[in-house]
Amino acid sequence: APVLKLNRVSRHYREGDARLDILVDADLALEAGQTVALIAPSGAGKSTLLHIAGLLERPDEGEVSIKNAPTSGMSDDERTRLRRVAIGFVYQFHHLLPEFTALENVVLPQIIAGLDRKIAADRAQQLLDYLRLGARADHRPAELSGGEQQRVAIARAVANGPDLLLADEPTGNLDPRTSEHVFDTLLRLARGSGLAALVATHNLDLAKQMDRRVTLRDGQLIEIE
Ligand code: ADP
Ligand code: ADP
Repeated sequence: APVLKLNRVSRHYREGDARLDILVDADLALEAGQTVALIAPSGAGKSTLLHIAGLLERPDEGEVSIKNAPTSGMSDDERTRLRRVAIGFVYQFHHLLPEFTALENVVLPQIIAGLDRKIAADRAQQLLDYLRLGARADHRPAELSGGEQQRVAIARAVANGPDLLLADEPTGNLDPRTSEHVFDTLLRLARGSGLAALVATHNLDLAKQMDRRVTLRDGQLIEIE
């Protein structure tokens, strides 16, 4: 079963008398281990799509299923619980906690999820090692490069072993070489641990390295080369 399935998802906003159709019968299926780039101009609806896929927002119509579980009938609490175990988020800015080290930033979501502190710390260190950030574990965000900060943010997003990673312009703030490194990290996680990733990006070169590319045109989600 796909990790994420959107079935005829629609969403509109009102602006005064005008009706903005942001998503119109959008369909998407994302399998385990697949990386998909979402490429579209600003205002096309990328963030809206990611919020709906991430169960942060409900569509007006259509169904979002996570690992075959339809979510439209779920309560907000049920959706939150599912989001916490199944979905990780990365944004343009890392939002790491400045007072905590890289390791502690990756430990925290695990503790919130109820894991023992020692087990959480071991897992965080393994994850940072795997992402070649092991030597940075004891550094605070301000002591890390922009790329390292964003890669720690990715480690934090996957610390609880989600099935799906949603990233909104994760390299929007980084130079090309650093962006490539951040993408390598995403691809490594997808290929190594079967994580499915949907990544909104303006970087076409990096999008080409992903398994599939989609765009939004007049609210339609279209597969592109
Ligand atoms: P993108 O991420 O591709 O830039 P967004 O999903 O953020 O696009 O926004 C798509 C369009 O919907 C934009 O025109 C934006 O102004 C509009 N929009 C987004 N959120 C709201 C909202 N809560 N109310 C009204 N309009 C919104
Ligand atoms: P940035 O992400 O800001 O470009 P890098 O991640 O390239 O910074 O570098 C951070 C650290 O990780 C450096 O010490 C670098 O030597 C190391 N590093 C970067 N890429 C690799 C790699 N592919 N294998 C091992 N170590 C790496």
